[in-house]
Amino acid sequence: MCGREESPTNHVVSVYDQLTICEECIDFINQMRESEMADLKRSKGADTVGKKIPTPKEIHKFLDQYVIGQEEAKRYLSVAVYNHYKRINQKHDKDDDDVDIEKSNIIMVGPTGTGKTLLAKSIARLLDVPFTIVDATVLTEAGYVGEDIESLLTRLLQACDYDVDKAERGIVFIDEIDKIARKSDNPSITRDVSGEGVQQGLLKLLEGSTVLVPPNGGRKHPEQKMIPVDTKNILFICGGAFDGIERKIASRLNTHMVGYGHDEKSRKRQRENLMRYVLPQDLKSFGLIPEIIGRLPVLTSLDPLDRDALRRILVEPKNAITRQYKKILELDGVELTYTDDALDLIVDKAIEYKLGARGLRSIVETVMVDAMYEAPSSGKKKLVIDAAYVREQLEKAHYEKMEITE
Ligand code: ADP
Repeated sequence: MCGREESPTNHVVSVYDQLTICEECIDFINQMRESEMADLKRSKGADTVGKKIPTPKEIHKFLDQYVIGQEEAKRYLSVAVYNHYKRINQKHDKDDDDVDIEKSNIIMVGPTGTGKTLLAKSIARLLDVPFTIVDATVLTEAGYVGEDIESLLTRLLQACDYDVDKAERGIVFIDEIDKIARKSDNPSITRDVSGEGVQQGLLKLLEGSTVLVPPNGGRKHPEQKMIPVDTKNILFICGGAFDGIERKIASRLNTHMVGYGHDEKSRKRQRENLMRYVLPQDLKSFGLIPEIIGRLPVLTSLDPLDRDALRRILVEPKNAITRQYKKILELDGVELTYTDDALDLIVDKAIEYKLGARGLRSIVETVMVDAMYEAPSSGKKKLVIDAAYVREQLEKAHYEKMEITE
């Protein structure tokens, strides 16, 4: 093609018996192609960079639409997610700069039903990246009954139709991370297959490496074709209730949870939420191994929900439960309203039954069953739910339940 003669250092290949091309030319063409591809990639990257990255404040504002309170967790999450965005975009101009932004996986500590999953879900909604929720309790060390740790990523792959590129920028929410805590503080001779073993396995995913993922999850088996997934840019958000960690925090802070003789400061702390003071060393005393804690550098806590928060959860979030029922009935042409005392009573009941935010939903559902049954055929245009109606419905449901158990 270039007219050069074949030489011992420059071999010539003939193509389709019509054209001969030397090695030098092949190299040249390859280089051209690579730089063209890189340009293309860069311009594609520029698209995502051009798409304005929401600032931490904007992310916080977005979360406010769905999650009530939990200001500290929101701040931490919005900063971590903002940086996650920047890291994803940084990938494209890696050659210009050798500072690699490392990912900051997150761990959220807080009582169950206070919004950990909701926060993670809302973040995924904002980011428009594949997202999956997995439960750490099903995981066991390789070779035991349960699921392999890599199966966490199977779900992520499934969430984006096995588009590996997309999955590699996704978010995985690992729930109940506290359940894989080491069972006892002293390393024992008995195996801890769902505790420390799983933590060791998880480490590999958290720190960013290429792992072989079984496409259908569960256990790996030898004949299966594996999908390699690089976890470097996958953001892991972990959540756990860490029941009893307050005691570890208290003992570190030298406060006594029960008893007397403590000073004003410790009494004040006791009244506050001790979880606010959680530090990495408390997670360690709870049974997480230091390597895992090191891979979850963003540690934040969630507050228990008080009456005021529960009341707001009932009406304020974009998809608050009461709004959902209003919408459902609107489709039947019925205008639904709740009186203030009805809402107060629902909150009271949720507190009374110790059901937390999750209970709000089941209470409202119980209250609404009859109304939903009647409304479409009643011909009424308005429906007002007041405290008396709530009480009546709850009593009814309660009695029915009693009958079943008898
Ligand atoms: P967990 O902390 O156990 O992960 P979830 O996030 O799953 O709890 O919360 C359960 C349900 O309770 C959510 O689906 C949501 O409806 C409600 N909820 C809990 N906390 C909040 C909150 N802070 N703001 C709004 N809704 C909440």
